[in-house]
Amino acid sequence: MNFSESAVIFFIFICLSGMYYIYLAYQMKLNKSQLKLKLRGIEDARQEHVQSILQEQGPIRSGSLVGINRKCGKPNCRCTAGHLHPTTYLSSKEDGKTRMVYIPATVEAVVTQQTQRYRYLRQHRSSLVKLGQQALELIDQLQEALQTTDPVVSPKVAEGGAKGKRKTSRR
Ligand SMILES: [Zn+2]
Repeated sequence: MNFSESAVIFFIFICLSGMYYIYLAYQMKLNKSQLKLKLRGIEDARQEHVQSILQEQGPIRSGSLVGINRKCGKPNCRCTAGHLHPTTYLSSKEDGKTRMVYIPATVEAVVTQQTQRYRYLRQHRSSLVKLGQQALELIDQLQEALQTTDPVVSPKVAEGGAKGKRKTSRR
């Protein structure tokens, strides 16, 4: 083994141990107050998404606009020579099938807005799902952090308690 080979092996060793320490740091559990702080942050973020959804007045429209260059069918039109007409369609899914609806230029701006707002609503919704999942995971971690593993009573107290109980029951 020459010098460069051992240098490479040493470098790989350093990288691997570095990755291992990053992994260890990641695995380290957050304490109670850190978990609560994170949960608070998630709830604040959720509030913002809910607020945005509540503010949506509609109308919204699913689907997205697509531009297609096509021939119009008139025999003497320039499109027959290859100068195709740019045409806008609303592409949407219905029962798993893609449906294309012609969108005249006069309503294109309005339909664009409607589909955009639909997308924003869906994005807020998926953010809520993600945050909700994170909140549940945090609550599980918090539950673990809050849980006591101490015995309910120490063996001595248990003994004394039992005696005491017998005394009181005699009275
Ligand atoms: Zn044409």
